Amino acid sequence: MPQTLSKKHIVVFGRPGSGKSSLADRLSERFGFRLVRTGELLRQAVRRRDAIGLRVEASLKAGALVPDALIFALLEQSLGGRDNVNLLFDGFPRTMGQVALLEKFESTLAFAIDAYLDIEVSRAEAVRRMSGRRVCPRCGATYHVVNQPPRVAETCDHDGARLESRPDDDPAVIDERQRVYEEHAGPILAYYRDRMPGKFYVINGEQPVDAVFSDTCRALGPAGLDG
Ligand code: AMP
Repeated sequence: MPQTLSKKHIVVFGRPGSGKSSLADRLSERFGFRLVRTGELLRQAVRRRDAIGLRVEASLKAGALVPDALIFALLEQSLGGRDNVNLLFDGFPRTMGQVALLEKFESTLAFAIDAYLDIEVSRAEAVRRMSGRRVCPRCGATYHVVNQPPRVAETCDHDGARLESRPDDDPAVIDERQRVYEEHAGPILAYYRDRMPGKFYVINGEQPVDAVFSDTCRALGPAGLDG
């Protein structure tokens, strides 16, 4: 039975390779968060080869951000009309323009973010981790060949799909993605740290994954059983 936390809606920040998506998977499994992953929504659009997918394919391959207006359209589709209980945003907001978009969604869809988590990892460690990353093309679950292997090699634990490397985990693109993160994340993190110090939590992402998870649970407040 999923447990509940005092914090209902959360945003997880962290540079590419920080482990934030694996942490998000685990939080979702344990506490029933609905994952809202802009990167995964974009990769799905590319796989479907729909209008958005065709527009963003080159940006994703190059490790560049896609325009805020497109992210808005994607999220409007994904959030609108659904039960917005226990949302976990992974990969959004990525620009100050998207910070404003999130505030707009909070007011129009009547939810409020309770916690902003910053999973801190050095650039060198993030680059090392990204080199062994694998992702499930069907459900988006992420793995690492050394740090977090699937139970059966190269196979998703959840749905048995064959795991893939992401094209943007190519060594040539990894540096660019780190640079883009460093360019945009500073102002966003400073914004939340200064304006909402009571909701902003820094987690040491260089610890073993279990320690990262338990520090995160501690930050998110006391858990109780559902029902
Ligand atoms: P991620 O899976 O979050 O690492 O995202 C993969 C790629 O998708 C990024 O390198 C960007 O090209 C794009 N992307 C994901 N989320 C956003 C966002 N919120 N704003 C702009 N581009 C994004």
